[in-house]
Amino acid sequence: MNRRSFFKSKVAGTAILASSGLVCKASAENPPTVNDNASILDVDVLVVGGGSAGHVAAIQAGRLGAKTVLLERNSQLGGTTTTGGVCFPGLFHAWGKQVISGIGWELVAKSVEVDGRKLQDFTRNHRSHVPHHVDLNGQLYSLLAEEACLDAGVSLAYYQYPEKVTQTPEGWLVEVRGQGVNYQLRCKQIIDCSGNATVVGMLGFERMRGDERQPGTQVVVYKGLDKDVVSKNAKQIQQMYDQAVKEGRLQKGDTWSGKAMQPIRSMKGNVNHIFGADATDAGTQTQTNLAGRKSVLRMLKFLKTIPGGENASIDRMMNETATRETFRIKGESTITVNDYQNGRKFDDALCYSFYPIDLHTKDGVVPKHLKRGVVPTIPRGALIPKGSTNLMVAGRCLSSDRLANSAARVQASCMGMGQAAACTAVLAAKSSTTPKEVHLGEIHSLLREHGAIVPT
Ligand SMILES: Cc1cc2nc3c(=O)[nH]c(=O)nc-3n(C[C@H](O)[C@H](O)[C@H](O)COP(=O)(O)OP(=O)(O)OC[C@H]3O[C@@H](n4cnc5c(N)ncnc54)[C@H](O)[C@@H]3O)c2cc1C
Repeated sequence: MNRRSFFKSKVAGTAILASSGLVCKASAENPPTVNDNASILDVDVLVVGGGSAGHVAAIQAGRLGAKTVLLERNSQLGGTTTTGGVCFPGLFHAWGKQVISGIGWELVAKSVEVDGRKLQDFTRNHRSHVPHHVDLNGQLYSLLAEEACLDAGVSLAYYQYPEKVTQTPEGWLVEVRGQGVNYQLRCKQIIDCSGNATVVGMLGFERMRGDERQPGTQVVVYKGLDKDVVSKNAKQIQQMYDQAVKEGRLQKGDTWSGKAMQPIRSMKGNVNHIFGADATDAGTQTQTNLAGRKSVLRMLKFLKTIPGGENASIDRMMNETATRETFRIKGESTITVNDYQNGRKFDDALCYSFYPIDLHTKDGVVPKHLKRGVVPTIPRGALIPKGSTNLMVAGRCLSSDRLANSAARVQASCMGMGQAAACTAVLAAKSSTTPKEVHLGEIHSLLREHGAIVPT
């Protein structure tokens, strides 16, 4: 199907956008902006949040010719992958073969290639899942994701968020805010990729949240340590570490393994546990960032006291402390940990997911691997808030119990969900129906046409 002909109103729609002054026609040379205090902007699909799921959803909707706006409250695409610094997405492969491909994989593979590296061999099985994560240059990834959005005609709206969402007979009326920005946007479908199911919450649909949440992580890589001296004194450094924890100069969670060598040796920087991390709103994100940065300062001060650590400093630290868990939606169906561990093939499965059960607690994390051959699926019902119409989610807030979520939340799965949700939303917008009503076979065909792997 030709993406330009998918929506017959595309050309007229672009004209409306351009004449409103809100959006110019997208191209890499002429990037669109959504930044004017003008009247109402009319689009087909609104994606809220440009993280692991959101940018893929927006690219897919754009490639299908849908007029698409992506609201992102931060400054770049990629979310936890880039702003959070978790630039090691997984898992696209299971048991020696690829189970998630499509737009997310296209960008990941391109990013590795442009970075001048090669992808590893995924046909080899390992005891650990870690060798199948793909190491990314996060900043490069955000550039390529942005380029793909612009090429697909997506209107990017950074530093903007929905303030109020009202249902209309045709879809939604959304009041958008940002610093100096204030406009209304009319759309047929919303895909909530905020990670926190923010729009779902605003509309009063049920969300789930445990009393306890997994800790977050302030990604940080240290430099300047004399490796030889440190290695020779490893035992003494561990004793110094334990003593510093006892005296309160360091805190539990400053390394999540309790091992002094973790922050010294880690090149990925996923070393601490920030307890109580929450990204639900500006207030909780501020508290989370403050806690993450205090942890880094404590660690840096400590490293400067150890043998070989006199010149310790920070090589790389992310702007935001990354959060593992906030809200999950209560969907039309919910993935349980049994479903996940038994590889339940849902009747309305849209994509695969593959990861160990990976619940981080105050005592660290011990991943529980899936049995050989098991590849879980993500159903459409887990992406649709119960009782809603014209609204989907994609990403870590999918409908799942806490343990299933600890696995299904990973980036490759979020990317698969983003692409699947976008195909569903665009088909619904095209035929003026709801995501629940769209013929499953049509969604599957469209996903396959766009390179995704559909569970069989
Ligand atoms: C420390 C840590 C380590 C992890 N390790 C791995 C790993 O090794 N491999 C792996 O694959 N996964 C890992 N994960 C999990 C994975 O990174 C996340 O679950 C996944 O990236 C979530 O994707 P998402 O799209 O749901 O949310 P996000 O990537 O968080 O994106 C949400 C986006 O929405 C934006 N947003 C939020 N609210 C609004 C709003 N109201 N308006 C506009 N924009 C909004 C945010 O700014 C953000 O850009 C890890 C997660 C963490 C925190």
